[in-house]
Amino acid sequence: MQCIKDSIKNINIVIGCDIGCSYCYARMNNNRFNTIDNFNNPVFFESKLKMLDNKKYGAYLLTGQSDLSGWKEEWKHKVFEKMKENKDTQYIFLSKKPENIKINETPDNGWFGVTVTSSKEKYRIDELRKNIKTKHYHLTFEPMFDDVGELDLTDISWIVIGTETGSRKNKGVTKKEWVFNIYNQAKANNIPVFMKEDLLGILDENEIIQEFPKEFGDMKK
Ligand code: SF4
Repeated sequence: MQCIKDSIKNINIVIGCDIGCSYCYARMNNNRFNTIDNFNNPVFFESKLKMLDNKKYGAYLLTGQSDLSGWKEEWKHKVFEKMKENKDTQYIFLSKKPENIKINETPDNGWFGVTVTSSKEKYRIDELRKNIKTKHYHLTFEPMFDDVGELDLTDISWIVIGTETGSRKNKGVTKKEWVFNIYNQAKANNIPVFMKEDLLGILDENEIIQEFPKEFGDMKK
């Protein structure tokens, strides 16, 4: 998922997803550049595994153009093995269908999360914790279509908040009070929060908080 692309470098080792979100920029990109034949049929680019050895950045998003629920078991296995060779680098995964994933063991440098775009999707947070056994869980709220209300943030280690960009009809425009509802709950639980720059205009510049987990190292380099 595209959700944290502005802050973290992407390695699009899998391209394609059949979830069909109306706001999917990855599908639009693929329609434009025709990287793979059918976006609904994900493709694993094994030659990109060596990119996981890149030490330039502390963390990489591996699902910027896919959803972890669409990854085959053998793809996960190959990526997890490569992650184990790079213990000081963090690797981030996102899903919107954690109910379709079952992972009982992950490398310690894996960050597994779900995207929640509305109060109706909060069940994904429980599904994440239930179906993926890992050291680091995270949440992304982007785009947002309503106030998500009260959250169970047990074991959550990082939260990203954003809004939808572009000119799509019916696009989700995040409201300031929705952002601060999440932020206040995160702070009550000592969870770092990253607000994407897209929120400028909704929030004042001095209201934008951009925090990373300490494991990501210096993200400014
Ligand atoms: S889950 Fe992500 S990659 Fe899949 S359709 Fe939705 S936005 Fe696109």
